Amino acid sequence: MLTELHETHPGMTRMKGLARSYVWWPKIDSDIEQTVSTCPVCQKMRSEPAKAPVHPWTFPSQPWSRIHIDFAGPSAGKMYLVVVDAHSKFPEVVKMTTTTATTTINALRDIFSRHGLPEILVSDNGPQFIAGEFQQFCHNNGIIHRTSAAYKPSTNGQAGRVVQILKSAIEQARITKQDVNVVIAKSLLVYRNAPHSTTGAAPSVLLMGRRLRTRLDLVFPSVQEHVI
Ligand SMILES: [Zn+2]
Repeated sequence: MLTELHETHPGMTRMKGLARSYVWWPKIDSDIEQTVSTCPVCQKMRSEPAKAPVHPWTFPSQPWSRIHIDFAGPSAGKMYLVVVDAHSKFPEVVKMTTTTATTTINALRDIFSRHGLPEILVSDNGPQFIAGEFQQFCHNNGIIHRTSAAYKPSTNGQAGRVVQILKSAIEQARITKQDVNVVIAKSLLVYRNAPHSTTGAAPSVLLMGRRLRTRLDLVFPSVQEHVI
């Protein structure tokens, strides 16, 4: 169980949060602490503590009503579009070859086809976001576009946190010589399914109303088998 919880090196807090949803044994907390403190990868990741920016945004009562978007990278020639829902904290990540207004809009269209249109979109003043084409896209879809212009760029911290997760995953893939796409996908599944420090709930639960099945679910008895 420790190996499974630790697979993506999600850090001590997230590992404990995840563990509490599935298992318990005496001294589980100290076992997790021991695992993280003796893992060279976790220790290396820890060197970049996630900033806790004080941002002026209120907590929206509905999922997918305000989203924060940003880019991470470049890593191996690729950029990553990061979109985070301010209510559920659910992240979407899209690997991008270019980050023009057109390609950004296309990536957002794909995400919006699943989750619907947000009411408010928050970004920094990146050239693709202040481009007329992007403004027009938001206007045409009834989306209010706000930039963190009046504040420091770090006020777009909702996306910043996921950007950190992404950077950690890329770094982790490099250290452990794994496929970066696999590590990112696994890290995102853990992030979406683990209780978030701000809300205390898993992003998937707040956005989709359910926990996502992972290998950790194998610890539960099968309801279906029991009924049959
Ligand atoms: Zn680790």
